[in-house]
Amino acid sequence: MKKVVAPALEKKLAKLGLRAPQDLALHLPHRYEDETRLTQIDAAPVGVPVQVEALVLKAEVKYRPKRQLVVYAEGLVLRFLNFYGSQLRQFQRAADEGQLVRAYGEVRPGFFGAEMVHPRYRVVAQGEPLPESLTPIYPTTAGLSQYQLRKLVLGALEEADFDDTLPAPMRRRYELAELAGSVRSLHKPAPDASVEELVERSSPAWRRVKFDELLAQQLSMRIAYRARRARVALPLPSTGPLLKRFLGKLPFRLTRAQSRSMAEILRDLAQPHPMQRLLQGDVGSGKTIVAAIGCLAAIDAGCQAAVMAPTEILAEQHLRKFTEWLAPLGVPIAWLHGGLSTAEKNAVVKLLKEPKPLIAVGTHALFQKQVGFARLALAVVDEQHRFGVQQRLALRKKSDAALVPHQLMMSATPIPRTLSMTYFADLDVSTIDEMPPGRRGVATRLVSSGRRAEVLGRIREACAEGQQAYWVCPVIEESKEGDLQTAIDTYAALTRELKGLKVGLLHGRLPAAEKAQTMKSFSTGKIQVLVATTVIEVGVDVPNASLMVIEHAERFGLAQLHQLRGRIGRGTRESVCILLYAAPLSQTARARLKVIFESTDGFEIAREDLRLRGPGEFLGERQSGLPLLRYADLEKDEALALLAREAAEQLLAQDEEAARRHVNRWLGSRHENARA
Ligand code: ADP
Ligand code: MG
Repeated sequence: MKKVVAPALEKKLAKLGLRAPQDLALHLPHRYEDETRLTQIDAAPVGVPVQVEALVLKAEVKYRPKRQLVVYAEGLVLRFLNFYGSQLRQFQRAADEGQLVRAYGEVRPGFFGAEMVHPRYRVVAQGEPLPESLTPIYPTTAGLSQYQLRKLVLGALEEADFDDTLPAPMRRRYELAELAGSVRSLHKPAPDASVEELVERSSPAWRRVKFDELLAQQLSMRIAYRARRARVALPLPSTGPLLKRFLGKLPFRLTRAQSRSMAEILRDLAQPHPMQRLLQGDVGSGKTIVAAIGCLAAIDAGCQAAVMAPTEILAEQHLRKFTEWLAPLGVPIAWLHGGLSTAEKNAVVKLLKEPKPLIAVGTHALFQKQVGFARLALAVVDEQHRFGVQQRLALRKKSDAALVPHQLMMSATPIPRTLSMTYFADLDVSTIDEMPPGRRGVATRLVSSGRRAEVLGRIREACAEGQQAYWVCPVIEESKEGDLQTAIDTYAALTRELKGLKVGLLHGRLPAAEKAQTMKSFSTGKIQVLVATTVIEVGVDVPNASLMVIEHAERFGLAQLHQLRGRIGRGTRESVCILLYAAPLSQTARARLKVIFESTDGFEIAREDLRLRGPGEFLGERQSGLPLLRYADLEKDEALALLAREAAEQLLAQDEEAARRHVNRWLGSRHENARA
């Protein structure tokens, strides 16, 4: 590519993930436009993009009402609010030479007759023939026109190597079209191609492309999995004395699902290869104790374990649980977080460098450069989707020894099957699909914010009976002053409105010590009503809190609402979650709240969330460094994804070289971002 394109262009292409000619050839249209026909300007239907053609008469820059390029053509005015000087000159030349403009877009009635604003256009000579087939439209970026990009793509297409990476028997088994022809036909549709099949991506050519993409994703994950699996880790047998003692006197009886997950984890830990397991289970399903058991295996082997959580509050909660459970066994526990003084921090850092058994609990602080472990054998990452790939990689490199630590990732966001078999195909998964016994359900109510007074009454009642309540504010970005103000104002208002009750405030921008203090006051019952932002979303466990009010519930994501609601219903009391919404609700907001109202099943909610938001947002941090699917759609192409998964195993077994070429072709440089 370097030889062919200028650096500025190269940068723009890189933005699109296009680095090699091969990438360009596989940069497929995201839609098609019909430029095979012209529409009479005065017959153009309203609100439908069409192609029209008119003689260019004059072009000038006007300054009223706003700076704009105005092109007068016969029976048509074109307006461009953003334009380059070269465009003005191009149209002036066209006017001088009697050329036509061929424009594609919506025609609207304007002050001077028919108008088009920012149409896609081309200046053409009289009599220039129309294209015979549909025009591909490519995903592009600022400053790179469709025309330029199309030329580059078609150029690359001529040179690209389409040698098929799938053996012929495999193509036959899965009824796949041949690759070269498929790709070409998507860039240059035949004149008789089915528009519908092209647009719906249901043609055999699209099916082949989507299969290849899904296969590449599967292969890349399996290859990454194998590579990591091939590394050496310290086996942590589950026969040690501490583990035995703890299992003999657990604080409660494990659920069947917990026991099963525990067995899977202990089995992995006993292997001389690093575990790479995801432990998923709905909020409150009891993941922490399973993680603690894993950590004990590390301690029994004379090693260290690290437990990391995305927020101070959550990390501190782990610290409390671990201390309660494991300190009686004499297990040393270190606590590393942002709120420590330098001297305290240095002491902990020094401690971790000693080759003695210990469990380190902490936040992002565990990733810091100066933190190194002498004998890290197990890394537990809670709410793994909150951490970036880079951070997890950093953690893996923390151990001094030539050993790779075992990894246990935990997630309370249940992952729908389609996602777990694609984006999480590089992990082994344990699922806790059962709640500890004795939980009372959470009743969900939808209440318009006009009935706030009643809600306050509810809070007073609950607190009079010795219960506690959360009041959650929709602070989406804690870093924005204005955003945070909602929580601060609500706190002030509730302090006034709920005279006689102790109200506390918790948000992400408070100093760590203050957060910890407030959380402690809430868990010991000194604070009765806790006004909070979503910092409480993950993992907070105060069984006595049985009421939650979520203000502006319509602004929250589904998974988030589910997580929030999971903070209550932890005690033996019937709990109530009140979703306050500001009427009137939009269609989508209504649909989302309905899901939360009707379901308490994390998996079902996750599926809906995925459907409403798409995988990009759903995956959160995990997507950084992960190639998202460009062509296949997990929901529509689930069956194809299943076939691709099957094919991946076969291809890896049959022809690893072809498998690698396949991954390079489809993921290329995107693949280099190895997974943690
Ligand atoms: P999460 O999966 O959301 O991290 P936790 O591990 O915080 O859930 O567990 C939620 C609560 O349930 C904690 O108070 C925990 O001690 C308790 N718990 C976990 N497992 C059981 C069980 N088998 N029986 C009773 N209580 C349990
Ligand atoms: Mg948890």
